[in-house]
Amino acid sequence: MGSDAGGGVMPIYPPEPDPFNCVMCGRDCPKKWHDPARREYPPLCWNCEQYGWRQGPLTQNPDQRLIKQIGALSEAITGAAWGKIDGRA
Ligand SMILES: [Zn+2]
Repeated sequence: MGSDAGGGVMPIYPPEPDPFNCVMCGRDCPKKWHDPARREYPPLCWNCEQYGWRQGPLTQNPDQRLIKQIGALSEAITGAAWGKIDGRA
C-alpha cells in the first residue's frame, strides 16, 4: 500500500471491489447505488465502518475511512474477546 504525499488535488478512489459479505453484519456488499465516495470496501459495509466504531465523525475521506475500518474491527475483536471470557461456562 503506497501512500503518496505528492499533493494531489482530487482524492483517488481505489477500483470497485468484488462483491463481499461484511465481516461484522454479514450483509451483501457493495450496494450498487453507492456513489464512489461511499463505496463499500472489504471487509466492512458502510454502516459497520461508519457506526461500528464509536469515536469519530462520519467521513468519506479514503484514509480516514481506512482508520475507521481498523477502529471498528479492533472494537469487534475486543468485544469478541470479552464475550469469550464472559461466556466461558
Ligand atoms: Zn456490516
